[in-house]
Amino acid sequence: METCWKHGRVVDVITGSCLECGGLPPEKPIVRFKSWPGYFLKEKSGIKSNTVRRLLHGEERLKKLKSWRESDPLFVEIENLETMERIQRRVKDVSFFEFEHIELCIISW
Ligand SMILES: [Zn+2]
Repeated sequence: METCWKHGRVVDVITGSCLECGGLPPEKPIVRFKSWPGYFLKEKSGIKSNTVRRLLHGEERLKKLKSWRESDPLFVEIENLETMERIQRRVKDVSFFEFEHIELCIISW
């Protein structure tokens, strides 16, 4: 059964609308990444609940991560590169750091 990402409420089967949104839920704020199977298993089980990424200027994902505030809902989706299985988690922290002049981003959930 499909639920509204914002309210957790089951949406209308036919129209897809949520009673609390008063219509279709807004687009889910999400950043998507792919992971190697070994990492994916750890990410799925919760042992590894972060990912470190190099993002390019102008990338939509980077814009979303840079403008993120703790109070904003943002989700991360990780896709297993081999099986294409996906998991989604709510982002808890976004941290940037520079290593050898390369800007890296740590996304934690
Ligand atoms: Zn809703």
